[in-house]
Amino acid sequence: GGTNVGFYLLKSIFICHEGNSEDEEEHQDSSIKTVNSSEEEEENMDTLDEQASATNPDSDKVAFLVTCGALSGQLHKKRFASGRCGKSIRTETRWLTPLEFVYEALGQRDGSWMKDIEYDRKPIGHLIKNKMLYIHSDLCICCLCKPSPKDLENEKNDDECYVCKSNGELVKCDLCPRSFHQKCHVPQVKEQVIKEDKPWMCIFCSFKSIQELLYPDEQKLEDVMTHQISRHMVACPYLLLFVYSADENQIFATNPEEYLKAYTSIIKTPMWLGKMAEKLQEKLYKTLGEFLADFELIFTNCTTYNKNNAEFHAVGKHLKLLLDQEIRKVFNIPD
Ligand SMILES: [Zn+2]
Ligand SMILES: [Zn+2]
Ligand SMILES: [Zn+2]
Repeated sequence: GGTNVGFYLLKSIFICHEGNSEDEEEHQDSSIKTVNSSEEEEENMDTLDEQASATNPDSDKVAFLVTCGALSGQLHKKRFASGRCGKSIRTETRWLTPLEFVYEALGQRDGSWMKDIEYDRKPIGHLIKNKMLYIHSDLCICCLCKPSPKDLENEKNDDECYVCKSNGELVKCDLCPRSFHQKCHVPQVKEQVIKEDKPWMCIFCSFKSIQELLYPDEQKLEDVMTHQISRHMVACPYLLLFVYSADENQIFATNPEEYLKAYTSIIKTPMWLGKMAEKLQEKLYKTLGEFLADFELIFTNCTTYNKNNAEFHAVGKHLKLLLDQEIRKVFNIPD
């Protein structure tokens, strides 16, 4: 899964860095050994993967990209119970049961969801026939088939935090399917909201609600940079969480000194997303330019530290590209 890729990337940075250091020979020998053993590991993984795909390439999937008409979504295995029970399909905007998904796509209540919903250009009836999905029996009393009012409420939102992708106590947005840890959301969710179960809207929804009013006219980047940050206390947290959630393996989330060897001997000013969230909430940025400069710092640090590691370098470059596009969209800056 994704986490393994992250570990592999981190591991390869260590190797890369050790390989480049001009330490004593003994040190270099051990780094060569590390490279060999990691190659062996990779080969073993390939063999395992081949075995799995010989039986069925879909067997280790947690979700399937399904479509119906022009609508698409991810059908999550562990949320699936039947056509009627369990909101198992996550579209961009909500969680739906297979029957609700067909209704939203085609406006039909009398269709057959097993035929009308497709995966890999075949009706999802195939997934059931191939035992990739199991229909629960009419007598099943699981929380999908016989949900309590609270279970029904929970089915409307993601089971994992939108920012860090792990589970635990999550705060659920009332307007979209996203869920967050209290402390992963920026700004942190107020204690009162959780204790009193108050209506709550996430920063993605807050931003969406003001986006069109924000900059009806085109802006210049150099002008935007001088804006007081207090004018952008929705757009800035939005951009920060946008990058957080796009950084799928949380490579830029925490202090790199904690897991990268000799980091500060190469990088003078470390910067990471968690630090930016802290600075933003403690009102340490004055202008938008100062805030955006810290994003730049994260990516230039990444380029400097990984100058000989193409794979890791590319992760940073890709994320920077996504962010630059989003900044232009948010502030209505033409290319
Ligand atoms: Zn069940
Ligand atoms: Zn989280
Ligand atoms: Zn939301």
